[in-house]
Amino acid sequence: STAVVLFTRDLRVRDNPALAEACADADRVIPLYVLDPKLAGLSGNRSRFLHQCLADLREQLRERGGDLVVRTGDPVTETIRLAREHDAGTIHLAADVSGYARRRESRLAEECERHRLELRLHPGVTVVEPGTLRPGGGGDCYKVFTPYFRTWSQATWRQQAGTPRTVTLPDGVTAGRLPAIPSGDSPHAAEGGETLGQRRLTAWLRTIDGYADAHDDMAGDKTSRLSPYLRWGCISPLAVAEAARASQAEAFVRQLCWRDFYYQVAKVFPKLSTEPLRPGNDKNWRYDKDALQHWQDGLTGVPVVDAGMRQLRAEGWMHNRARLITAAFLTKHLGLDWRLGVDWFFRWLIDGDVPNNAGNWQWVAGTGNDSRPHRRFNPIRQALRFDPEGVYVRRYVPELKGIDGPAVHQPWRLPEPVRRGLDYPGPLESQRDEAVWLRP
Ligand code: FAD
Repeated sequence: STAVVLFTRDLRVRDNPALAEACADADRVIPLYVLDPKLAGLSGNRSRFLHQCLADLREQLRERGGDLVVRTGDPVTETIRLAREHDAGTIHLAADVSGYARRRESRLAEECERHRLELRLHPGVTVVEPGTLRPGGGGDCYKVFTPYFRTWSQATWRQQAGTPRTVTLPDGVTAGRLPAIPSGDSPHAAEGGETLGQRRLTAWLRTIDGYADAHDDMAGDKTSRLSPYLRWGCISPLAVAEAARASQAEAFVRQLCWRDFYYQVAKVFPKLSTEPLRPGNDKNWRYDKDALQHWQDGLTGVPVVDAGMRQLRAEGWMHNRARLITAAFLTKHLGLDWRLGVDWFFRWLIDGDVPNNAGNWQWVAGTGNDSRPHRRFNPIRQALRFDPEGVYVRRYVPELKGIDGPAVHQPWRLPEPVRRGLDYPGPLESQRDEAVWLRP
């Protein structure tokens, strides 16, 4: 028998339930990726990373005697066409939660039924499948993190899927060309693929012990940086969680649970990127094109905010603490709509995805289910606490390189002649009324 495995964002051979089951059940397997022109608008950074992942996946499959078959067009049409050409009976796919993925999945289900093909959906995008844990008092999903974390921690996780030793293609399948890897937009972006993801994971597990104490140290850069690899499925979230558990790195396991948490929310609220989770909690956001532009360009005049925004452009990634500070600054201080932030982050982040990006923005903006929707972050206090020597700021804001120590966080306090010599803006006009909070 022959099976097709439609890869989407599970770009790995290790612990990939869809691939493992196809290889166990069928004699011949067609691992397929369909380049969808509808996703051609994918940001430069994510597009580059995706193509690196595909090249690596092809290598991995070739090492096992198979190949990655690549087609361009509508994923549903191309999958059905290939299945029929090669007389396949089953199509395997990892279940996913975004609106785009769910539409693709239901169209594929319809077409499979029409052509008498079997569609099998598999877990693997999260540690625990979205929708499987339900709150005690009823409801479709957990809306608050802590009870979810408790249940999630006690749940029985699925068994990891074995890595297929061989992948046997049917005769006569043409593999198809992989387009050249496009150039991304960020000069210092991480490179994609399972090989690099595995390497980073192995290195990370050696230092994971320090995570609980060091993850907020912006200059130390001591988080795993695994998010792009998790986003594209180069590494299995379950494998990462189990390895972290084995190292007793509870603080890190908890972060992985946040990822799962937002996936189960997104499954129930597909409009997470555009509509407030709690309608009553949206605000009358200001409209200020100029302030938005300054924020995007990293020229607000608040160094820690500008450092974060510039890291985003330089690396297609930003430290979590900086994401919190810059997001709070946009929504709570500039009073601008969180959706503008969602869009800008999505434009640059390699790890950008709807559940985590929009879920976190809503948490910061206070439009979700958080118990403290009016929480404010004083950027200066945050900077002095999490970048006490100003090393993070000087790394990303070269105009301030000459200012030693924590003074770099408040250039407006420097003596006038020094300040005048800096090629760096004063705080934005729209923040001046808030001069009070600029003083910690
Ligand atoms: P680590 O600290 O090493 O954490 C390990 C993993 O846990 C991460 O890779 C990630 O998968 C998960 N994780 C950690 N923190 C969170 C969190 N708050 N929410 C959900 N999962 C988490 N993360 C994304 O993956 N994609 C996004 O689009 C995204 N957008 C964000 C937007 C805002 C405004 C904020 C405040 C946070 C956002 N995050 C997003 C969450 C978090 O900032 C990143 O996951 C983290 O910085 C990635 O770096 P790391 O892999 O080194 O994290």
